[in-house]
Amino acid sequence: MIHLKTPDEIELIRKSSLLVSQTHALLVEYIKPGVKTSKLDDIAEQFIRDNGATPSFKGYGGFPATLCISVNEQVVHGFPSDREIKEGDILSIDCGVFKNGFHGDSAFTFPIGEVDATAKKLLQVTFNSLYIGIEQAVVGNRIGDIGFAIQNYCEFTHKYGVVRDLVGHGIGKDLHEEPQVPNYGKRGKGPMLQEGLVIAIEPMINMGTYQVRTLSDKWTIIAKDGKPSAHFEHTIAVKRGKADILSDHNLIFEAIKKSEYIQDFR
Ligand code: MG
Ligand code: MG
Repeated sequence: MIHLKTPDEIELIRKSSLLVSQTHALLVEYIKPGVKTSKLDDIAEQFIRDNGATPSFKGYGGFPATLCISVNEQVVHGFPSDREIKEGDILSIDCGVFKNGFHGDSAFTFPIGEVDATAKKLLQVTFNSLYIGIEQAVVGNRIGDIGFAIQNYCEFTHKYGVVRDLVGHGIGKDLHEEPQVPNYGKRGKGPMLQEGLVIAIEPMINMGTYQVRTLSDKWTIIAKDGKPSAHFEHTIAVKRGKADILSDHNLIFEAIKKSEYIQDFR
């Protein structure tokens, strides 16, 4: 069942989503070679709790951390550990917060120092594909229009792999609500997009095969061929004419301007 949101509820989801973006922006100050990914998790959890919210992911289905941190060939659901960030890595950080009864969810992939040209291109294409998908998230379209636009750009134009096994989702009182929002699909198919529908659109794009597998830790999903993968996500509200993006990557790019280690890859 799809839960449509009132304008007041959408404003609460915006608050949660902005707190996620502020968390990402704060992390930019700490992301550098030699830092353990578990340190980033500690900083994020403290910041979220200091802002009167709770991390959506911690304890969700038994997930042990505030952030999903997925490095290089890890697609999603990597968890923070003693692993140190290295120059040349790409680091996907997915974060969700719960505040005032509503979740916000957003992800961003950071290039660490100098990354090679192929990784930079993967970030650019994945980032662009998110916004290409969001352009379709308007009243009168269908869920399949979003997935088709993302798949067409990533797979048919750029020959990357669009992950099939994981998809975007409705979001609100629950972190994952209906409908599912695949990053692939057919134009004109799937549920109709209506005013009040709030969804997380989150292309997970692999440099090689779209196929993935789960590591023995039972969480971390990696690209089957071991090639890099990128992930960008926004929580958005469907509107007439143009979607309302509730999380905010601009806060992250502002922080990146001041970072020695992270480049604006756009
Ligand atoms: Mg997410
Ligand atoms: Mg999500």
